[in-house]
Amino acid sequence: MNVLVINCGSSSLKYQLLDMTTEEVLAKGLVERIGIEGSVLVHEAPGQDKVKLEQPMKTHKEALNLVMAALVDPAHGVVKSLEEISAVGHRAVHGAETFSDSVVIDDAVIKSLEECSELAPLHNPANLIGINACRELLPNVPMVAVFDTAFHQTLPGEAFMYPLPYELYEKFKIRKYGFHGTSHKFVSQAAAELMGKKLEDLKLISCHLGNGASLCAIKNGKSVDTSMGLTPLAGLEMGTRCGDIDPAIIPFLVNKGYTVEEVDVLMNKKSGVLGVSGISSDFRDVEGAANNGDKRAQLALDIFHYRVRTTIGAYVAAMDGVDGIIFTAGLGENSTTSRAAICGGLKYLGITIDPVANSKRGEATIISDKDSKTTIMVIPTNEELMIARDTLALAK
Ligand code: ADP
Repeated sequence: MNVLVINCGSSSLKYQLLDMTTEEVLAKGLVERIGIEGSVLVHEAPGQDKVKLEQPMKTHKEALNLVMAALVDPAHGVVKSLEEISAVGHRAVHGAETFSDSVVIDDAVIKSLEECSELAPLHNPANLIGINACRELLPNVPMVAVFDTAFHQTLPGEAFMYPLPYELYEKFKIRKYGFHGTSHKFVSQAAAELMGKKLEDLKLISCHLGNGASLCAIKNGKSVDTSMGLTPLAGLEMGTRCGDIDPAIIPFLVNKGYTVEEVDVLMNKKSGVLGVSGISSDFRDVEGAANNGDKRAQLALDIFHYRVRTTIGAYVAAMDGVDGIIFTAGLGENSTTSRAAICGGLKYLGITIDPVANSKRGEATIISDKDSKTTIMVIPTNEELMIARDTLALAK
C-alpha cells in the first residue's frame, strides 16, 4: 500500500510517496514559489538523478498536477498509475481542541479545519488549499489529516491554561496548544524501542531543536507539557523567534511608537539567534562565528542552551523525574557541541555523556555513558513517516 504525504505551505509544497509494506520512500520532492514568478519542482527518487522542472504554477492544484505527473512519469516516475496511491496523509498545523488525533477527511472535517484557521492564519488556509486540490485530483482516494497540535491535547489544565481572565479561553480559545506534536510522538516511540522499554512506563523529554524549536514532556506516552503555546512563538529562543519574553515588552514598544504589526514581525522574524547575534538565523553560521571569537554569537548560543537546559529542569519537575532525554531535528541531530553544552549543566540528574557516541550523526543512538542515570539519545525525526503510519492506520 502506497501512501502519499503532503505538506502544503502558503507558496510551497513538500511531498513523499512511501511504500508502507516496507516503510521505504519511493519518491519525494519540493515545489517552491507557487503563485510567484519562478515556480520550480524538484523531484527525486532513490538511485535516480534529481529532476528539476521550472514552469509557471499559479495554484497549488497546478503544482499538485505536476507532482502527480512526476510520480507516474515513464522516465523518472515510481508508479505506473495514480491508482497505485492508496491514501493521502496531509500535514495540518492547527487542530485546536477539535482534533486530539489524526482523522479521516470528510466535509465536516474540512468545515472544522476552516474554523481552526483563526488560530493559525498563516498555516491552516494553506493546508486546506492542499487538501481541497488533492480531493479534486484524487476524488476516490481516502485522505487523512495529521495535526501538529493533536499530540498535546493530553496536557492537563495547569499546563495548558494561561492565568488570564477565564473568559478569554471561553470566548477566543486562548490556551497553550503546542506544536511539533508529530515529531515528538515519533521520537518518543523510537526512544522507547531504543531503550528496550515500554513507552507507557517511561518519563521522556523530547528536544526538537531546529529553526523552530520546542521541548515536550512525555509521561507514559502522553504529552503533559510543551514549550510552544497558542502559537509557535512561545518557549525557547529560536532561529528568528524570541520565545518567552516579558509580555509587557509589547505595550512598552507600542508606546515607543512601534505598530503592533511591527512588533509581531520583530518577535517572529528578527529576534532569536538572528536578533542576538546579528549574524544569521542558521545555527551553523552562528556556531562558526562563536568559534572565531564573536561574543554576540556566543551569547545567542548561550541563551539557547540555557533555555533548553532550564526547560528540561522544569519538565523533570512536571513529571517528578526523567528516564530519557531525546535530541532531534536539524540542530538536535547534528550539533555535538550544543548537545554537550546542554547536557553539561545536567549533572544533578546523574547524566554523563560518552564523547565518542556523541560525535556520531544521522542514526538513532544512545549518547550517554552506560552508568548515566538518565539515558540521552539522538533520534532523527521523521514526521512524514509518522503521518504515513497514521494515514495507513486510519485509511485501511
Ligand atoms: P526547520 O525544519 O525548523 O526549518 P531543521 O530541523 O531543518 O529546521 O533545522 C535547521 C537548523 O539546524 C538550522 O539552523 C541549521 O543550522 C541547524 N543545523 C543543521 N546541521 C547542523 C550542524 N551540523 N551543526 C549545527 N547546526 C546544524
